[in-house]
Amino acid sequence: MKYNDTIENSQQYLRLALQLIGKHALPTDPMNYCIWYEYASGKNAELNEAIDNHMKNSGAFSEEIRQQIFNQFIAGETQKAAVLVRDGLKRVFSEIASAIRTTNQELSNSENNLETINDSLLPSLSEVDIERIVDQIKEEIKSLETSSGSFKEQLVQATNEIDQLKTKMEQYRTEAHKDPLTRIDNRRGLEKHMTKAISQAKETGAPMCLIMADIDYFKKINDTHGHLVGDNVLRMVAGTIKASIKGKDLVARIGGEEFAILLPDTPLEGAITLADNIRLTFERLDLKKKNTGESLGKITLSFGVTKYKKEETPEDFFQRADDALYQSKETGRNKVTSQ
Ligand code: GH3
Ligand code: MG
Ligand code: MG
Repeated sequence: MKYNDTIENSQQYLRLALQLIGKHALPTDPMNYCIWYEYASGKNAELNEAIDNHMKNSGAFSEEIRQQIFNQFIAGETQKAAVLVRDGLKRVFSEIASAIRTTNQELSNSENNLETINDSLLPSLSEVDIERIVDQIKEEIKSLETSSGSFKEQLVQATNEIDQLKTKMEQYRTEAHKDPLTRIDNRRGLEKHMTKAISQAKETGAPMCLIMADIDYFKKINDTHGHLVGDNVLRMVAGTIKASIKGKDLVARIGGEEFAILLPDTPLEGAITLADNIRLTFERLDLKKKNTGESLGKITLSFGVTKYKKEETPEDFFQRADDALYQSKETGRNKVTSQ
């Protein structure tokens, strides 16, 4: 076993190794790095075969088997392997640090491109959970007591940067579920809640409903008063719907002037009543422009309501609510249709 991989390859192997360690929920120590680096590189066919066979038979990577594999396939090259793992980690650090810089740059360019940031950042970090990497790296630093001062400093600095990245990632994760204009959830946020709510509804057998709401003739508001006023109307509508719901209910902006309201633990009649109450709230509002006091006239919304059917997909659930909304539009707007 010779360690003469190119930088690119070794980075890739290390990343794969981290993934495998994460996947099998193994302790994050240098011995595991060595074993799984070797495994990821695929260069030691006997080691791979031994691990594969073992995992197939017992499903677990016990302490005993790991010692056995380490002694059989890796011991003797320990020194080199430790150096290699250290170098690999260093490269991953610098990669992560550069991801932080890119991310910062992208974020300051536009606050609306969170999705791009997530999409570009996450694959480069692969599926390894950031938290796990940070913990792993901290462990690694602790075990590097004997290394030279400057390398240690580099590692400490990298750890600090990674801690910052972790905070940012958490921020992005939340941000990615929010609509920047109205600050309520966006479609992604709704989908995430929906997945949870569906599994809960299946478990408890409680009814669950979905309301789809769309502002009537919204284009006219933009055309007459401008997009800035249109934006304020969207904020007002989001706020008003949010104030009308409670508990586990969730409102999300799922398109331009379209909102979805997810109602766990709610029977169809309850959902219809809620939709109609929201409809009436808007009907009664007399909206005025902030600066001039000029009236915007009435703003109405059309609604579609439906109840979740056991075992159906979220798409079918959505589609039925959408069909009901379409019927409300077709039959005069400013009304609630259930399906
Ligand atoms: P309908 O009653 O059939 O729903 O008519 P509508 O005019 O509301 O629907 P349409 O789909 O024709 O137009 C929706 C408009 O919403 C067009 C688009 O410019 C506007 N819109 C979408 N997103 C935003 C936004 O973020 N801000 C503003 N101001 N307008 C938006
Ligand atoms: Mg509309
Ligand atoms: Mg629409």
